[in-house]
Amino acid sequence: MTLRSIFGEGGFSDSEIDRLVYSRDAGDLEGEAMAVVWPKDVKQLHALVGYAKRQDYNLVIRGAGTSLQGGCVPVKSIIVDMSKMNKVLEIGDDFIVVQAGAVLDELNHRLGDKIIPIKPFNHAVCTIGGMVAMNCRGMDVSKGRIGDYVMGVDVVDGTGKYMKLKNPTAKNFVGLEGTTGIIAHVKLKLVSKKEYRSFSIYNFNTLSSMMEKVEKFRGKEEIKSILFFDDLASAMLGFEEKNHIVVEFLGDKGVIKDVKEIERILSFKEVLYHKLRKSRFGQIEDPKIDSDKMAGFLYWLRKKSVPVYGHLCLGVVHPCFKEFSKLPTEMHELVETIKCENASDFGYGFKRKSFLKGEKKVKHKILKEQYDPKDLLNRGKVHE
Ligand SMILES: Cc1cc2nc3c(=O)[nH]c(=O)nc-3n(C[C@H](O)[C@H](O)[C@H](O)COP(=O)(O)OP(=O)(O)OC[C@H]3O[C@@H](n4cnc5c(N)ncnc54)[C@H](O)[C@@H]3O)c2cc1C
Repeated sequence: MTLRSIFGEGGFSDSEIDRLVYSRDAGDLEGEAMAVVWPKDVKQLHALVGYAKRQDYNLVIRGAGTSLQGGCVPVKSIIVDMSKMNKVLEIGDDFIVVQAGAVLDELNHRLGDKIIPIKPFNHAVCTIGGMVAMNCRGMDVSKGRIGDYVMGVDVVDGTGKYMKLKNPTAKNFVGLEGTTGIIAHVKLKLVSKKEYRSFSIYNFNTLSSMMEKVEKFRGKEEIKSILFFDDLASAMLGFEEKNHIVVEFLGDKGVIKDVKEIERILSFKEVLYHKLRKSRFGQIEDPKIDSDKMAGFLYWLRKKSVPVYGHLCLGVVHPCFKEFSKLPTEMHELVETIKCENASDFGYGFKRKSFLKGEKKVKHKILKEQYDPKDLLNRGKVHE
């Protein structure tokens, strides 16, 4: 049996151009692809893992390839492009079952008054499989992560076993960056588009006055999220050059209640992201900082003139650095020193595996040994 015979004409390529195109993802690392396959169903996935085991090949799974940390970068690997497994298998009143290569926006356009509420910036292209593998968080942070909506997954693991899993076992494939199994199908909970919330925007001349206000809001039941833009990020968004917070209230306590205006507010981060990239602030980080250390951390960034936005209830902030700057390394050292997390949202991939620590590292090792003991899937990623 060969890859060509498993996947047929149009389902397999080892051409130079395809191998080159698939040698990198949205990040800056580059690897070497041996071939690319486009599976259409679970039968082909199962045959592929059997083939890789026998021939001692490793497999790199790919959705839309928007991973920023080298999650889809091959190491003399066969690329498994999931884009042809993009069908909707079932739609119920409050759930949907899809193949993993289905694209988020295309699904939400089909769904009418229900939606999948996690919407990352790359919503127009990212796949459900990629989102689940990364346990993606969207722009609307009070909605949680995609893993909160996963009801079940069908997977082929690194031993070639096909499993139809419900929670809690399904979670062994959520946020594991494709290192435990190839997600073939996903069952997701849907939610109503109707909302009962409102927003208020506040601005501050100093970081300390802003943090005082944030402390007053923190822990209150009606506060769903606090989005923050420092003065540099605010200016890029076209606001006054001051620190801003956008506070989300459950119910109607906030000033802004109009649905269209709320949509505009929720798009601030997406607008900012594109402006930052245009101004060459291409390196966006995602540290998670304890609340008692946040003020000091933000002062440090401001002293270095690093624009930053983030979520003050979650403690997740996004400092934005100029490409090729050495400051991110300085920041990583600072975050280590103050005993906070360096990677909370954008995964570990190749680039950031030294950031995986403690309980998370132990859990990953156990799951890897259970589902992919020969390290066939996404080799060299996440763990050291
Ligand atoms: C412009 C831009 C904006 C982004 N915005 C956000 C954001 O707002 N929030 C956020 O959390 N992240 C964001 N990201 C990071 C990342 O793109 C997302 O996590 C996204 O969900 C990945 O989807 P994808 O289909 O491109 O997956 P890919 O990049 O193709 O894959 C991501 C990882 O998942 C694995 N994988 C893919 N499909 C499967 C599968 N079927 N089974 C098993 N493993 C699989 C891959 O091997 C890889 O390790 C952004 C990236 C870019 C470039």
